[in-house]
Amino acid sequence: MTKIITTSNKFIRLRKSSSFFNKSVGFVPTMGALHDGHISLIRKSLKQNDITVVSIYVNPTQFNNLEDLKNYPKTYQQDIKILKALNVDYLFYPSYSEIYPDDFTYKIIETNFSKMLCGKFRPGHFEGVLTVVMKLFNIIKPDRAYFGEKDYQQLKLIEGMTKAFFLDTKIIPVPTVRTKEGLALSSRNMLLNPEQIKLAIEFPKLLSSGKSIRSIKNTLAKKGFRVEYIEKLNDRIFGAVYLGNVRLIDNVKI
Ligand code: AMP
Repeated sequence: MTKIITTSNKFIRLRKSSSFFNKSVGFVPTMGALHDGHISLIRKSLKQNDITVVSIYVNPTQFNNLEDLKNYPKTYQQDIKILKALNVDYLFYPSYSEIYPDDFTYKIIETNFSKMLCGKFRPGHFEGVLTVVMKLFNIIKPDRAYFGEKDYQQLKLIEGMTKAFFLDTKIIPVPTVRTKEGLALSSRNMLLNPEQIKLAIEFPKLLSSGKSIRSIKNTLAKKGFRVEYIEKLNDRIFGAVYLGNVRLIDNVKI
């Protein structure tokens, strides 16, 4: 039975109750429109913990573009079915005022890595991400929290935040789930038309092609992508591109 909790105080009370006593708690934060990528995180949590909590919250403070927020896919009824079929214990499904009683006047800010890669092009994005994750951690109090390597920079920043603030949650990374053609699953893929889906496959292919950054950028542009950035950092190559107004990100280990 998946229990749905919509208020922060109710979850905080529940968390202190006997239902959670001596139980390990796994947490999977999502923005909904669930796909096999999310499901892979959830399955890992179900395996490693006594209780699994999934949250669905489309966090407005991490969107630097109002259109993107408006267009973000919402498939709540389908999501509930998936969570019930997986036998997830709790869905936390809060509203804005439950998460931001302060109306986002208090923020978690990282001043270094959050300014690179995606952060360069999405001002304020990681402030929104880190702030919402800190709030969710304080409500859910998970022993383990699961994050996808698809959003690698996000994963590293959250790992950094848990260390910086001595949080008692272990961050568990989960490898990127892809279609058989190699496209990283993403809720935003639902916004692509069939032609764009076909073209989108070229993005991960080029990232892992071993070609130079310049050549990857040029080839993507020729094929009809709008390239935001392609960058090598440590042992990974990261990229963000647009097809129409849909933004896709990916990263591969070199
Ligand atoms: P989102 O709903 O897009 O905020 O994603 C929620 C969590 O699922 C994040 O930790 C993402 O990194 C993770 N995730 C999204 N897509 C994938 C994927 N294709 N493979 C693995 N994890 C993913």
